[in-house]
Amino acid sequence: MKPTPGGPDPAQTQPDVLTAVARTWADAVAGTSYVPLPRAEVEALLRALLGRLQATLVADRFRPEEGCAVGAALVDAHFTDARTLSHSLTVLWEAAARLDAPRSQVGARWHVLVGALAEGYARASQERALREQDEIVTAALTARYQAEQALQMSEARLRAVFAGARVGIGIGDLDGRIIDLNPALAAIFGYPTEELRRRRVQDFMHPTDSEPVWRLYDDLIRGDRDHFRVEKQFFRANGDSVWTHLSVSLLRDEAGRPQYQLAVVHDVTELQQLQTQLRYEAHHDPLTGLPNRTLFLAQLDSIFASAEAGTRVGLCFLDLDGFKAVNDTLGHEVGDQLLVKVARRIDDVVTAAGHLVGRLGGDEFVVLVPGSTGRGQLVELADRMLAVLAAPVHLAGREIAVSASIGIVERPVEGIDPAELLRAADMTLYWAKADGKNRWAVFEPDRDARDINRYALSSALPAALDQEQFVLHYQPLMKIADRSLHGVEALVRWRHPTLGLIGPDEFVGLAEESGLIVPLGRWVLQAACRQAYEWFGTCPGSPFISVNLAAQQLREPGLVEDIRNALVSSGLHPQQLQLEITESAIVGTDHSTRSTLRRLSDMDLRIAIDDFGTGYSNLAYLRHLPIDEIKLDGFFLRGVRATEDIDPVDEQIVASLVSLAHVLGLTVTAEGVETAAQVSLLAAMGCDAGQGTHLGPPADAVEMAFRPPARPVGVLPIGELPVQFGQVRPG
Ligand code: C2E
Ligand code: MG
Ligand code: MG
Repeated sequence: MKPTPGGPDPAQTQPDVLTAVARTWADAVAGTSYVPLPRAEVEALLRALLGRLQATLVADRFRPEEGCAVGAALVDAHFTDARTLSHSLTVLWEAAARLDAPRSQVGARWHVLVGALAEGYARASQERALREQDEIVTAALTARYQAEQALQMSEARLRAVFAGARVGIGIGDLDGRIIDLNPALAAIFGYPTEELRRRRVQDFMHPTDSEPVWRLYDDLIRGDRDHFRVEKQFFRANGDSVWTHLSVSLLRDEAGRPQYQLAVVHDVTELQQLQTQLRYEAHHDPLTGLPNRTLFLAQLDSIFASAEAGTRVGLCFLDLDGFKAVNDTLGHEVGDQLLVKVARRIDDVVTAAGHLVGRLGGDEFVVLVPGSTGRGQLVELADRMLAVLAAPVHLAGREIAVSASIGIVERPVEGIDPAELLRAADMTLYWAKADGKNRWAVFEPDRDARDINRYALSSALPAALDQEQFVLHYQPLMKIADRSLHGVEALVRWRHPTLGLIGPDEFVGLAEESGLIVPLGRWVLQAACRQAYEWFGTCPGSPFISVNLAAQQLREPGLVEDIRNALVSSGLHPQQLQLEITESAIVGTDHSTRSTLRRLSDMDLRIAIDDFGTGYSNLAYLRHLPIDEIKLDGFFLRGVRATEDIDPVDEQIVASLVSLAHVLGLTVTAEGVETAAQVSLLAAMGCDAGQGTHLGPPADAVEMAFRPPARPVGVLPIGELPVQFGQVRPG
């Protein structure tokens, strides 16, 4: 109940809410206290208890014990009628919506708090009953000592206790014949007093009695013990069971010989039921009635604990596809109903097959197959679940299409623990989602290891950037015609402290997923421009440095500024910088990306399309963009490593691409040049430049500058690079 802006001050509103709830609560428990309090005092008391609950609800550190204390306080105030607790719980559940606390807290914490209250109440009221029982036994024994003849002389006193007591009291002889009982005991058993007098204690055996109960009884009758106390069920006259706390004492004569037995019986059926219900609620999801996470994990643990060698186990981790959209568009109520229907369908399939199902939360369900027979069994089960979910659900006058994704793990129990099994299934579920949803995926250890690696790498990336663990390698782009240097491509690597040098294919994608590519790309730009200045100085006619740009960088508003900074701080001329962008990063993008491209081109930078041929290969489209160069992907040359391999069709395609690019005024660099034959072919086609191991593999800046000049015949003299750099360096 957050106040609306301009609405009443919460400090004002909240006391009123609490007072109003206290009033409702007082109505609900009216007359359930054995010590009648004036109405105003009852309200004040309940208001104070509500204040404690509310404070617990919003506290930074949540302390559910406070709920127990409030429950006990109710008992202390003599609210001990059987109806007090159930009436109180009803009021408190309904009050949740009115309390001043964030909804998420009300939902989760209030449930726990009210449960704790019930538990505290139950415990306090049991303790109270036991205290009362002891008081009665003491009274009886005291009476016996005070009188000359135990029962006769204390009769007046005992009668008073009998009549007024709320607990049942009965006296029997040593044969078990019931001699006397009070009205409360008759009420507990549901028999008329006279009928009970004709009964014997032994008639009140119950099928659930444990052997020790009757052994204790025999000990007592024999005089080997004076007292025992047990929890025991009895049958009522109508056949119902009644749960009691039973306390039996032996009364002896003056010579110490056993003479009578005194039983004090407290009916705890309602508390017992409540505890059973609380236990059920703590282990079941209130919406679907399925076992919740706690119970499911407990079942999983116990299966692992009791599994014999060679036992297998299977787990399906199921998550609905696009459930959030249902909640967002049709509302949470419809979402809840949908979950109920889905749960029922899954439960039907799973329970019929004798497996266990639970709801872990949200739209996540898990199915456990103890003693599974193999992967096939789980796949079949997953197929059946997908099939029953495929039928549309009719809700709120609509037909809602449902689908789910399922992660499957099936394996021996040895060598894995429950937590790892769940993690593996959860990871596999993610694969099923990533592979297109509405399907199952089966756990694969190799893929998992790769994912774990990826995750580890991804989370180490930000620190790696801070600690400057990235380095640049450089690869020459050589002109085919005169074998002089066209440009140098900067290629980033990660010098990982334990894994060694890692190539960009392993981390650039991760950096794109996390957005780290933007600061990383900025660093690459600056480092590459600085290096290029060191080699070439400021000279528009020199070879250029070619820097790869990720699609995400292109959409980043600060890109133009970053590039300007890199140029200004390094001193490089814009014509000495080429940006490599893949076709897919440009095609189909919005107006602002294209206008970024234009601004870059207006700055006089070179723009190249990287890996041309792997994407749309649409030169006609690219014609409208400010592009200087295309870099033909290495696959065009892959089949033509030797002269005799050359496929005339491939050759013609490349030749046409080159001449088309030339018509559009673009230069062409071929990637993946690995043989001399490829160089000759490119030369014949009029391709402008080439890049590849044959022309110079990537190397760090130092190695790049000092490559030996002498090379085998047919290999271009990359070693002359420093000389060429020297030639173009001004001054
Ligand atoms: P790319 O831009 O197409 O870079 C060329 C890749 O081909 C480089 O791989 C290079 O080592 C490799 N290569 C060079 N010569 C040959 C050859 O003769 N044969 C074959 N098969 N391959 C050759 P690398 O360095 O592993 O880079 C892979 C990709 O990573 C690059 O492909 C680029 O897309 C990306 N990348 C590299 N550095 C950066 C960067 O700083 N930023 C961004 N966004 N991406 C980068
Ligand atoms: Mg590139
Ligand atoms: Mg490339």
